[in-house]
Amino acid sequence: MIRPALVFAIVALSLLTAFAQSPAAAPAQEKIIAIHAANLIDGTSAQPRHNVTVVIRGNKIQSVSEGGAAPAGAEVIEFGANTTVLPGMIDAHTHIFLQGEDPAEGGYDVQLLKHPSSYRAARAVAAVQRALEQGFTTLRDVESEGAGYGDVGIKEAINAGYIPGPRLFVVTRAISVTGGYPLEGYNPDIALPKGAQLGDGPVEMRKIAREQIENGADWIKVYMTHRSWVDKEGRLVSQPTLTLDEIKAVTDEAHGQQHKVACHAYSGIGLRRALDGGCDSIEHGLDLDDAAVTQMLKQGTWLVPTIAVYYYGNAPAETPEGKRDRARIAAHEVSFKKAMKAGVKIAFGTDVGGFTWADPIAQEFDYMVKFGMSPMDAIKAATSRAAELLDMKGELGVIAPGAYADVVAVAGDPLGNIGSLKTPSFVMKDGKVFKK
Ligand SMILES: [Zn+2]
Repeated sequence: MIRPALVFAIVALSLLTAFAQSPAAAPAQEKIIAIHAANLIDGTSAQPRHNVTVVIRGNKIQSVSEGGAAPAGAEVIEFGANTTVLPGMIDAHTHIFLQGEDPAEGGYDVQLLKHPSSYRAARAVAAVQRALEQGFTTLRDVESEGAGYGDVGIKEAINAGYIPGPRLFVVTRAISVTGGYPLEGYNPDIALPKGAQLGDGPVEMRKIAREQIENGADWIKVYMTHRSWVDKEGRLVSQPTLTLDEIKAVTDEAHGQQHKVACHAYSGIGLRRALDGGCDSIEHGLDLDDAAVTQMLKQGTWLVPTIAVYYYGNAPAETPEGKRDRARIAAHEVSFKKAMKAGVKIAFGTDVGGFTWADPIAQEFDYMVKFGMSPMDAIKAATSRAAELLDMKGELGVIAPGAYADVVAVAGDPLGNIGSLKTPSFVMKDGKVFKK
């Protein structure tokens, strides 16, 4: 039996909720912008569309129509025949708290050992601005590399309007096991910071996942493999990290709270455990065997390949590291092509931060196209497909009614010259023009 007082409380609460959720009609001051695009790649269609009017009201796209007129009072933005309009792009694998790993600048370790957190945060602010300038209006940032929950703070500062930046989906600290992440190779008697949160056993793993979600993680990131090397037979081998029980504790906890799990995995045992353990996306996937591809298709697992980053800073060819670096590149190309041909779901991701933010994020498209992906599919991987990965289908990565008004424009035709995506001339995020 429901007591009258409780009924009153429920009615009052639902009235309050209804009031909070329906600000009557759209406020009169909501800005209306009409974009006339001679050429539009909308993120989902197989072909570009022409002479399209995109009407934006506030932060959402209201209508998209061929030959449509701008509504009265709208600010009109014209893009002529030499320009292509696209949805704001999504990079599903970034590290805003990393600034390249160039040994000349001290590599990875110096960033954790010597840079104060304020310095790292300042550079993260520059990194997100740099991403937005390049037309990337959404990032899935897959761990802060020793900067704790700093990614949550940057995301909140962007959302509150204090700094410009893309929409962020953050993972906070990421997870690995003892012996499964840097800093490494120092005097074991000195306690040093680690780039990820390390734990052992399913109980600790579950606790870490709970802690990270409590403190703002949108996704959980797990390192399912760590070091890699070439064995005596010349095969690429990678060190497995979490056991099946451990990764299952993480995915069970995350999925129960409706969060997804991104798993760094190269090959072999660690990759198999990642798939058996129910990871939602495989990051890098350098050496996917046939069994892994079959399992990814069956489970609907995403691949976020991050190709370009592996072409940076390769060691001299005759050293063990150089052999490993070349084995990675060779396997990765085969792996990407195999996954693509089989129909594995692929989302665009770069690992920027692993290389410097001064370099173009969109260089990743060059590799995807070089390895046989059509330019349109590569664009979809960075728009509607990546939005699907983020459970934002129809809301991000598409120029369609109801979607967030994230819009970019580039010179020329990116289907003929994929390199044009590196230098967008116009960037709008959430209905606000950032670059024009
Ligand atoms: Zn990464």
